[in-house]
Amino acid sequence: MWKLIVPTKIAESIQEIDVEYLIKNGKKLLLLDIDNTIVPRGDIEAPKEVMDWVKKARKAGLIACLMSNNNKKHFPYLEEFVDHYAIYSKKPFKANYQRLMNKFGVSANETVMIGDQIFTDVLGANRLGIHSILVRRQKYYGKFFRVILHKIEDKLWEKYE
Ligand SMILES: [Mg+2]
Repeated sequence: MWKLIVPTKIAESIQEIDVEYLIKNGKKLLLLDIDNTIVPRGDIEAPKEVMDWVKKARKAGLIACLMSNNNKKHFPYLEEFVDHYAIYSKKPFKANYQRLMNKFGVSANETVMIGDQIFTDVLGANRLGIHSILVRRQKYYGKFFRVILHKIEDKLWEKYE
C-alpha cells in the first residue's frame, strides 16, 4: 500500500526532467498534470521554460498529453503545444490513464506521469505501473484542507529525498 504513494522519481520542476533519460528508458507517452505542474495555481500563462521543455520533449519524439481532473479546458491555448488535452480524468482512478495509453497505443512501461500531487497524479500512475515523477507544486494555495494536504505532501517529500 505504502509503495503506491512513492513516486518513481522526484524533480524540483518539470523542466529539470531529463528528456534523454526518458527516451533511453523506452518512454513514449507523457501524461502531464496541468494545475501547478504546467500552470501555476491562479495564473493563466504557463511559464516559458515549462513550455520550452514540452516542445523539446515532443521534438525528441515523446507524445505530450495533458491530463487534467478539471471539468473544463481552462487553458485552451495549451492545446496547440500538445498532442492531446484530456479533462475529466478522475485521477487517481485507473480508467483514464488506461484510456489515454490505449489512444496512443502504448503500454504502462512506455508511459510517464508527471504531476505535483501524490494522492492523484502519482497514486493513479503507480496503480497501473506507470513511471511517476512527482514535481514540486509551482505555488501554494488554498485554505484549510489544502494546507493540510500540502503539509502531508511536504512530509512525504522529505521521505522520498
Ligand atoms: Mg496538479
